[in-house]
Amino acid sequence: MSDANAEKINEEIKTDQKSCIRTRIAPSPTGPMHIGVVRTALFNYLFAKKNNGKFILRIEDTDIERSKIEWEKNIIESLKWLGIQWDEGPDIDGKYAPYRQSQRTQIYAKYLKKLLEEGKAYYCFCSKEDIEAKKQYQMSAGEPVSNKDECRDIPQETVKKYLEQGRPSVIKFKVIPKKIKFIDIIRGEVEFDSGLFKDFVIAKNLFNPLYNLTVVVDDFEMKISHIIRGEDHISNTPRQYLIQEALGFPMPKYAHLPLILGPDRSKLSKRHGAVSVSEYIEEGYLKE
Ligand code: GLU
Repeated sequence: MSDANAEKINEEIKTDQKSCIRTRIAPSPTGPMHIGVVRTALFNYLFAKKNNGKFILRIEDTDIERSKIEWEKNIIESLKWLGIQWDEGPDIDGKYAPYRQSQRTQIYAKYLKKLLEEGKAYYCFCSKEDIEAKKQYQMSAGEPVSNKDECRDIPQETVKKYLEQGRPSVIKFKVIPKKIKFIDIIRGEVEFDSGLFKDFVIAKNLFNPLYNLTVVVDDFEMKISHIIRGEDHISNTPRQYLIQEALGFPMPKYAHLPLILGPDRSKLSKRHGAVSVSEYIEEGYLKE
């Protein structure tokens, strides 16, 4: 192959890789747009634009009680005011719509059913009190607190019967003990031992999924290539890795950004002063 041809092919490969870059910001509409989320959005936006990729806005409103449409509006208006424009989102749609999690329930239910059928998730019927009582008993007997959930072993017919009886339950993910390693673009190699985790709740029921499940499903379905988010989420990554593995999804690339801190080195919050874009606008700041 001539040098000119090889160069042309290399250029095409590079363009292909670049056009596959898809980033997202996934705020929960539980309050006004926080300046920390704006900073994360900016990194996602700039990285996508620099690489000829796409930047997506997804509204993570699975927490029905705390999510409000007025906060969603505030998030959208704040980003628009700042000039951070998304290529796909709840107000403009796109190939992978809907971009509001409360409208994606059927998609999550499909994956929850798959995990349940394959024995990678299970119904747990223990109340918080049962779990606490067991922990207290083990501690007072000087035994190590067991990570093993007894509901893992309930026979299928019994599960069916309990569900028909309407017993309160949640859906838990079965944690497989192993060393989880991944490369974080900012921090380098990160390692976790999932043997230290307990089985965790991924849904209240088939139609009420929780964050760790929905985020994994959406990032896969929306073909997100790079997850750039605050480092307060790094401890969620191994759990999300386990779900990705169980569902056979490829792992996206991760970059966990350091958080904005107040003068006392704690996470920037209301007690340090203004934290939302609306407050800065009211105080007369310019978007620049
Ligand atoms: N909904 C999450 C939040 O508001 C976003 C999590 C993520 O970026 O993975 O913190």
